[in-house]
Parts: sequence; C-alpha cells; structure tokens
Amino acid sequence: MESMDHVDCEYEVEKVVDQKVVNGNIYYQIKWKGYDSEYNSWEPYHNLNCSELLSRFQCEQIIRNKKILERKRQLLKERDSNSSTSSKDGSSVQFYKKEIKNSTIHKETRIQKNISEAQYNKNNNSNSSIGVKRPMTLVEKFQQQTGFASNKKPKIIIPIPSPKVLEFERFLNRSIKNGPPISVINDIDDAGIPSNFTYVENYVYGEGVPCRIDLSERLVGCRCKEGYCTAKGCSCFTEHTGARLNYDRTTFQVMLKPGNVIYECNSKCTCLSNCVNRVSQRRSDLSLMIKRFPKKGWGVITRRKIPERVFVTYYYGEIIKSTEADRRGSQYDTKGLTYLFDLDYNAEDHDECAYTVDATYFGNFSRFFNHSCDPNLVVYPLINDNADIRLHHIAFFTSREIQVGEELTFNYFGNFYNEEVESGLSKIKEKYVCKCGSTKCIGYFHK
Ligand SMILES: [Zn+2]
Ligand SMILES: [Zn+2]
Ligand SMILES: [Zn+2]
Repeated sequence: MESMDHVDCEYEVEKVVDQKVVNGNIYYQIKWKGYDSEYNSWEPYHNLNCSELLSRFQCEQIIRNKKILERKRQLLKERDSNSSTSSKDGSSVQFYKKEIKNSTIHKETRIQKNISEAQYNKNNNSNSSIGVKRPMTLVEKFQQQTGFASNKKPKIIIPIPSPKVLEFERFLNRSIKNGPPISVINDIDDAGIPSNFTYVENYVYGEGVPCRIDLSERLVGCRCKEGYCTAKGCSCFTEHTGARLNYDRTTFQVMLKPGNVIYECNSKCTCLSNCVNRVSQRRSDLSLMIKRFPKKGWGVITRRKIPERVFVTYYYGEIIKSTEADRRGSQYDTKGLTYLFDLDYNAEDHDECAYTVDATYFGNFSRFFNHSCDPNLVVYPLINDNADIRLHHIAFFTSREIQVGEELTFNYFGNFYNEEVESGLSKIKEKYVCKCGSTKCIGYFHK
C-alpha cells in the first residue's frame, strides 16, 4: 500500500556490508533498502531476519579470505625464491619483517614453503596445545551464535535452505502477482508444499456457485468524474456508509468499525485505481515469510513492522455450497485440519449460510494464518466486484501495529469473541487444543 512508503519504520535489508565482533558478539553492517550508505548501521544478529543475505555475505567473506591468503602465500613464495638474489632489496626485507612481526602463521609458512592447507591447519591448531589459544574466527563465532554449525573443525557450514523449502518458495513466487515475493523458512522438519495445493489470487467458483462474471450485470458503479471519489458526492458512500469514507485519505487505514461491510468502488465505477475507496485493490507491499512452527505447522510472519488498521489480504479459496462444505468438513475433521471459512456475514445462523470458502486445495498465503486467542488481524466482509453479498470477500486488516518477526493471526471464533461466546463454546464437545501460546489463550478452539 502506498501509505506504507511513508511509515517511519522501513527495515528492509538490501545488503550485508561488513561484520565485526564487539565483546564477543557479532555485529553486521547493514545497507538498508531505499537509504544511502551513510545510513548504514551495525546490527546484532538477533535483530536481523535475512538469513539468505547473511549466508551470501559469509560465502563472499570466505572466498575473499581465501583469495587474500592465497595471494599472501604467493607473495611469500616469490619472495623466498628470490631471496638469494634480491636480499639486498630494502623493500623486500621490510615486507618480510613486517610479516613476521604481525603473524606467526606467515612465519611458519616461510619455514615450510610448500605447506598444504591441511598441514597449515594442523600447525595452527598445535598452537592451542602449547597454551596459546587460537582466537575464534568470525565464521566460527557466527556458527556458535547462530547455531548454524556445531562442528569444531574449521569447516564452514552455510545454512542453505533445503530443496523442499526452495521448491516451496519457487512455487509461491511463480503464482504471486499482486505483491512482493514471499520467503519460506523451515528449520523444524522436512515439510514442503502442502499436497494437492494450488496458489491462487482469486476465488475459484465451485459447482453451482454464481461466478463474478455471472453477477457483473448486477454491479452498480458511481459516476465520479475527477478520477477519485469524495465522501459526499460519491454514490458508493452515500448509499452504504452515509457519506463517510471507508479509509483515511492519506494513510489508507480503515476507518469503518469491524462488523460492518466495506463497500469499495468496483469495475463499473468511473473513478481511477488511485481512488481512496479502492484500498484492497492495490498491489500489496508487505514483506512476509511463511515459517514452520514446532506445534502449529506453517504460519505467516512479517519481516517489516505493519501499522494498525492496514489491509493485509483476502482469504482466497474455492467457493463451495455450504452443504458441500459440511460433507468436506467431516472428512477434514478426521485429518484434524480444516481450511473452511463460512461466508456467513448476512446469515442468522449456520444453516442460513449459503456458501463457504475452502482453502484446502486452492488458496493464497492467508491459508497459513494460525488461530490466536489474542490475534493481530481482524476480518471484514468486503464487496467490490462480487455484487452478491453472499459471495463477499473476507478481508484481513491489522487490528494493531505488528512488529518485525511477529506472526499474523486471527481469531477462528470471529472478531467479537467475548465471555458469552466462550461459555457457549465451552459446551461444544468437539474441540481442538489451542496452541497459540498467547497469555489470553483459553486452551481450545471449536471444530
Ligand atoms: Zn471510487
Ligand atoms: Zn465514486
Ligand atoms: Zn465508486
């Protein structure tokens, strides 16, 4: 969203430039995306969420160090072979002395001209046996602090994502058109792309469900001529919100209270794509990551701070008749997983709900949102090109500011969860154990 360009906390790492150790901790010098190098800052490892860039930096460092070492060896070799003839050359001697003074390694290299790397390491390690402990290299410190490798040998293990994780990332980013790429991290197990799953950025209309094109005849648009809509002049507002804007004109944060339907401008409206009433139709600029959790399975975390009341995404999937949803639901229950979301905004009770979104086989990243008893997302029914209220969008907005690395969650019970609902739910026999981990967790959620 455009508004996010002006948010004070844009923390996207462009490049890892350098590293240093202060009091035994590694710090990385970070070049921030969109900022000049003068804004580079030193960050401890735990502040960073860019393992790929860090591994690339480590790789570059290793290659660079190897090159420096090789060049030094080469120089020493040349100098040694020339020493008999050019010993009177002042500069050469000076260089020689400097090398000995600064590094015992080079002294040894001079003695054993054709020393192999293995022997070099052996000799180097032998220093520790006579009481001079070799200081930890940066790479080893990196491994020690990040837990990327526990090997004592100076062999470098770079955290390369598993083939399944890479495959998952490629799978997502081939299909994502309405937003930036999404990365995947899994250091828990070997899970990859969910089986029989297709990533979509639209509803898929199941059997007997009227699709958007069928309904387009029923769409009514506003006639705003300036290219954008104003609260008073636009029929899209006067009809539904009583001439109040749905979104803040400058920050694009939602102003309508949860529990109301957001009516956005649609394809029949004459306003342009930058109209204030088309916030959810813009390309997203969220920076997200799908992460594997120990008990919950996949979840979605943000790599950047997200302000409150900002549009996140729609819940996409296959729209099916609710009778079909009931049939599928009992099947899914036996597997302990369900991605069914009733389109029941205007329904009095479950029996009246005509359609359900099933994200088991088709869906977008919102399919991986987990339940929390203390969520940071809120759901709004939203209408733009889906003229039938029974086929509304399920739109997720942030209910509070979300911090870097925090998981995006919503309440599977609905937005208006309270004690009354809880006492009702506590009577339901079939329950899932809630693993949200929040201090407000009630311990279960219903099937
Ligand atoms: Zn408009
Ligand atoms: Zn309008
Ligand atoms: Zn309109």
